[in-house]
Amino acid sequence: MTTLAIELKPNSHPLPAAEREARLANPGFGRFFTDNMVTIRWTEGRGWHDAQLVPYGPLELDPANMTLHYAQEIFEGLKAYRQPDGTVALFRPERNALRFQHSARTLAMPELPVETFIAACDALVAQDIDWVPPHGGESSLYLRPFMIAAEVGLGVRPANEYLFVIIASPAGAYFEGGVKPVSIWISQDRVRAVPGGMGDAKTGGNYAASLLAQAEAAREGCAQVAYLDAVERKWVEELGGMNLYFVYGDRIVTPSLTGSLLEGVTRDSLLTVARDLGYQAEEARVSIDQWREDTANGTLTEVFACGTAAVITPVGSVKTKDGAWTQGDGAPGPVTMRLREQLLAIQTGNAVDPHGWRHTV
Ligand code: PMP
Repeated sequence: MTTLAIELKPNSHPLPAAEREARLANPGFGRFFTDNMVTIRWTEGRGWHDAQLVPYGPLELDPANMTLHYAQEIFEGLKAYRQPDGTVALFRPERNALRFQHSARTLAMPELPVETFIAACDALVAQDIDWVPPHGGESSLYLRPFMIAAEVGLGVRPANEYLFVIIASPAGAYFEGGVKPVSIWISQDRVRAVPGGMGDAKTGGNYAASLLAQAEAAREGCAQVAYLDAVERKWVEELGGMNLYFVYGDRIVTPSLTGSLLEGVTRDSLLTVARDLGYQAEEARVSIDQWREDTANGTLTEVFACGTAAVITPVGSVKTKDGAWTQGDGAPGPVTMRLREQLLAIQTGNAVDPHGWRHTV
């Protein structure tokens, strides 16, 4: 099968360089968008068609667009990093393409071919390459591919038309002025996802479902929520937007994939990076009691969260409705920081890439 050709119809009035540079100097996250976007349509009986790179701008939606009512929507998140030689590399885009296909199956949507997903990312980054921040920090260009139902109507069923879009947004370093540990609220009442549900798909509904627990965490003085399994309310799953790792000396453990947690690209990469650095890395079930007890007896030396946005975030403190504890001494631990430095070095081109994870645009 040949890859769908992307017709290039770029913005003829890109933002003036001085204004772009001003935005790149302090991009924050998800505040500014590049000059262009990619759109691809899918229609029942016709498949994928009309792949275009066009000026970034509003989508026109009928008020009865099915997505607005029944949330048939999926998305992805990945980063392009400026390399030391000035080129730009995406980090493991095929993993995001495959997860996007998995999300599509879960939401009864058509699967975009992996090569089309990657070609669309490449086309947008190549066109808007001046929006990729310079090498040397932790800044990047964040890509947000997503797909919505494009059919109009109020019947509850899979749509017969879809719209795939990629937009891009420069992202500054997640931590300004050094890595800071995060505080975690373990939600024992509200769950994020259920067995047989869509917790392992990247769909807006999972994030909508997390907002109330997130507000509860904020009231408890915590920055992030850790979710437990929905059945026993015992097994640690993940945070609202990051996976978790538990560090036992030179052994690191991440919760097994149960179907109700998202398989993070960072999580997967760290299993390999850790082994390359000589750590033992495994997937296993971890209970909330084990988390508390192993912290108290000192065997659980560090805990960290991981995801595309922050790469690795140390966990400094934990709160539950039955009590709270400091994780280790509350400061970022040495294993956490070593893994973070190594993975970021691979992403930004400061280390060799033994597994071929960098995809040069
Ligand atoms: N879990 C959830 C619920 C997420 O939204 C994310 C962010 N995509 C992650 C984990 C981490 O995944 P990744 O490493 O692919 O960014």
